[in-house]
Amino acid sequence: MYTAPIRDLLFVMHQQFKVQQLSASARFADYSPDLAESILTEAGKFASEILDPLNRTGDEHGATWSSDGVKAAPGFRAAYQRYVADGWPQLGISAEHGGQGAPLTLNTAVEEICFGANLALMLCPTLGHGAVEALKIAGSDALKARFLPKMVSGEWTGTMNLTESQAGSDLAAIRTRAVASGDHYLIQGQKIFISWGDHDVADNIVHLVLARIEGAPAGVKGISLFVVPKFLDAGRNDVRCVSIEHKLGIHASPTCVMAYGDTQGAVGYLVGEANRGLEYMFIMMNAARLSVGVQGVGQSERALQQARTWVLSRVQGRAVGGPQAAGSPATIIQHPDVRRMMLTIKSGVEAMRALYVYSALQSDLARANGDAVAQARAELLIPVVKGWCTEQSNEMASLAMQIHGGMGYIEETGVAQTLRDARITAIYEGTTGIQANDLLGRKLLRDSGAALRELLATLRAMLAAAATAAARGNAAQLAAAHEAAAASLLLLGDVSEALLQIANRNPSEAYAVSVPFLKLCGLSFSSVLLIHGALVAASADAGVDDAFAQGKLQLASFACNHTLPQAQALAETIRVGGSSVTGVDPATV
Ligand SMILES: Cc1cc2nc3c(=O)[nH]c(=O)nc-3n(C[C@H](O)[C@H](O)[C@H](O)COP(=O)(O)OP(=O)(O)OC[C@H]3O[C@@H](n4cnc5c(N)ncnc54)[C@H](O)[C@@H]3O)c2cc1C
Repeated sequence: MYTAPIRDLLFVMHQQFKVQQLSASARFADYSPDLAESILTEAGKFASEILDPLNRTGDEHGATWSSDGVKAAPGFRAAYQRYVADGWPQLGISAEHGGQGAPLTLNTAVEEICFGANLALMLCPTLGHGAVEALKIAGSDALKARFLPKMVSGEWTGTMNLTESQAGSDLAAIRTRAVASGDHYLIQGQKIFISWGDHDVADNIVHLVLARIEGAPAGVKGISLFVVPKFLDAGRNDVRCVSIEHKLGIHASPTCVMAYGDTQGAVGYLVGEANRGLEYMFIMMNAARLSVGVQGVGQSERALQQARTWVLSRVQGRAVGGPQAAGSPATIIQHPDVRRMMLTIKSGVEAMRALYVYSALQSDLARANGDAVAQARAELLIPVVKGWCTEQSNEMASLAMQIHGGMGYIEETGVAQTLRDARITAIYEGTTGIQANDLLGRKLLRDSGAALRELLATLRAMLAAAATAAARGNAAQLAAAHEAAAASLLLLGDVSEALLQIANRNPSEAYAVSVPFLKLCGLSFSSVLLIHGALVAASADAGVDDAFAQGKLQLASFACNHTLPQAQALAETIRVGGSSVTGVDPATV
């Protein structure tokens, strides 16, 4: 059974990063740690009591298609309706648009809990949230008045329709057409892979669709964004789900092929200005990418909990150095290698959690105070959160399966589902390669490394302050952890300067190592923030007990010895690895 990691979340939010600082701003004046605790506690109950019990059955039954439309897995409609009745869709939406105006940091923490309990179901409201953001940013007052209230409440869900069979990572290739017709457009074309493109959990579905207006310029500059509701006031719109995909995981999330305008053309309303659709989608994608990174963390926490239950009950062999007599078998957590795997997952999850909470807080600081430096940090970190946490979730779920031995490969234990469900997170919403291109091209090269240098300096200062305040625990361990974290920031700084030079000399070589660079950033930032958390927990006024502080320090020491050394290998690859990719004739691969 999934249990929300509330204590760890609250520690990271309030003791480590002081999210309560947001209450100094007018925008988040109502925020307090107590309020956050009660919201996270309620989310935890919802996750354990409603979402988690449907995770397995959703996987087994999946969504089903018929010519009348898609039916969600059993129990999903009631669970979604309860989610709406409890007001969850409104949590992170600003008050001016009818939401509760919670900081992104809190909303994202709630998302981690819900994604950990049932990723397939929670994709539905997450997409709706993204659609609301796009309409808020770019929609006319009339469009907002017509669609936002029911989307904000969750009565209507939303989708994102970008992908076409020839246009996946490359959205410039989009062919769906829009023809002006009075106050609206008629949309015609086919979209594929549309999550929750059709279902019966809510009464209407508001599709956000990228399409080209007739005569628009070729490429990305000719793409516009449209709202296409499933139901118009006059009845059914000309949009249908023609099939759903059979896929590896998230079976209960219908992945739809959507046909627009098969008969007279689907009625769509232009959002914002013509030809600026991709720009609007990108604003929304930042939020969506953070959210998908958090899906990786939620699934990793789920894998951790599954593995923990198993290692404490599975008995096999005798512990090295323990009683050797027959009749004294050990639970497998007694075996050093199993303990190593558990610590890898636990430290990985806590490091990722620190990374996404810190990143979301930067967005909140930017929104609350117009803090441009925080905004630059958030923009730099988003592809790292998305790319790193989702790649890691695959590793973490795979390790959790390994811990289960053969039973992990059998569906019964549930960890196989976690591995299957987590796999998609590194693919949709931009693959890891696309995140790495973004990190290198738009975040590192565009400002010649300025934002990264600022972030590294900020993290160094945070570490130094926390190390100075750290007063309890093993002094040698604390000093070693601080030293290792500071050294990894220096290493990342040196490597990124080297990468800037490589990119100047030969851009292709730099792009050949963009994923190792993203991984180095993810590994370094998350490990540094994990160690920072341990140093904070060790300060006298941290407000945590000794056992909690000691647990954090043990994880930090583990990360120093087992995780951070991998940074050296990535650094070496980044410095010298590009030419051994670009020098190879593609035909010979
Ligand atoms: C279950 C599921 C749900 C989805 N939900 C949605 C949804 O709701 N809405 C929606 O619009 N789409 C959705 N998608 C589509 C998803 O976002 C795309 O599949 C994804 O962006 C990758 O595009 P592609 O499949 O065309 O792969 P491709 O673009 O063909 O990529 C194939 C490989 O080439 C690499 N590659 C491509 N271009 C580059 C480049 N420029 N540089 C480096 N490497 C590159 C990729 O990293 C990848 O490894 C979903 C997909 C799935 C499977």
